[in-house]
Amino acid sequence: MTTMQAIQKHHAGEGFKLIDAPVPTPGEGDVRIKVLKTSICGTDVHITNWDEWSAGRIKPPMIYGHEFCGIIESVGPGVTHVAEGDYVSAEMHHVKMTPSGNGAGPQFEDTHVIYGVDAPGCFAKYVVLPQWQCVELPDSITPEVGACLDSIGNAVHAATQVDLTGKSVFISGCGPIGLYSIPVAKALGATQVFAADVAPYRLELAKQAHPDFVWNPSDMDGDTNIDEAIHQATDGKGVDVVLEMSGNARAITTAFKTLSHGGSMVCLGIPPEPIELDLNRDVIFKSTRLIGVNGREIFRTWDIMLDLLASGKVDIDFVLTHHFPLSQFGEAMDIAKSGKAGKIILTP
Ligand code: ZN
Repeated sequence: MTTMQAIQKHHAGEGFKLIDAPVPTPGEGDVRIKVLKTSICGTDVHITNWDEWSAGRIKPPMIYGHEFCGIIESVGPGVTHVAEGDYVSAEMHHVKMTPSGNGAGPQFEDTHVIYGVDAPGCFAKYVVLPQWQCVELPDSITPEVGACLDSIGNAVHAATQVDLTGKSVFISGCGPIGLYSIPVAKALGATQVFAADVAPYRLELAKQAHPDFVWNPSDMDGDTNIDEAIHQATDGKGVDVVLEMSGNARAITTAFKTLSHGGSMVCLGIPPEPIELDLNRDVIFKSTRLIGVNGREIFRTWDIMLDLLASGKVDIDFVLTHHFPLSQFGEAMDIAKSGKAGKIILTP
């Protein structure tokens, strides 16, 4: 077989193209991975829509997609880290490995290149990556879950910023990362978990992870009621930790109000434009720990996440709502854009 089906960003504009692409050959230090499952991320929706960010960053034509798992099918010369037949996912931020010389193993340097954004990605039958990108997966992690580790890593990275043992946690925003955060926060020892979103579809999904309360601010006659409800549920104290996953300005303002004195505000959701913050009220006089998080720690977050999933402490199957063959990418993308989806899994 010399060609494979793939999803290509074919031009500098809206849309995508289903193409027959040459099967890539692994070079020195590279591996070719047969993609078992891949999933759609918000970034892929941006790339498909060709928004301002995509127009400034993506260089078509290019196969995109950056969340997947698969089996290493062939290896290039000089590969020592992984082998043919290994079940892997991959860190898609290019990690440049340099020998450390002190016996501590190779050190990595982030070069800000992301496979599937700046270089060919995984919306294809095969993907070629440098060996050091690969992360071996235990067999207990299903390929469907293995295709979502990039985004689960974001939830784990956010939730591990603060020791959640015995804490009350408010998850603001129930997109896939917010949804993963519910079982992750519980597994990390949170005693109370609250969640909110304006989309009824997402709240129904959230309920499947059994948080203590879920709220829809648009049903509550103003956001102040979420603040009141949380204070009631926490004996008037407010929550110890907010995981802000919405990036919505109003939700962020509300989230600060729900926080207890000395609480931690972990911000992962990205507001589309600058937002106003009452630093005196919400941060300084409240002794708030304000923590910004992005991506994940390579590879520390991977280790924690794989442990949580493989041990069965975290089950995220409830987030995986749709399955399509890769050839039906258009239908899958329409559902992703509708917001009525958790994670959408594609099979090449
Ligand atoms: Zn992503």
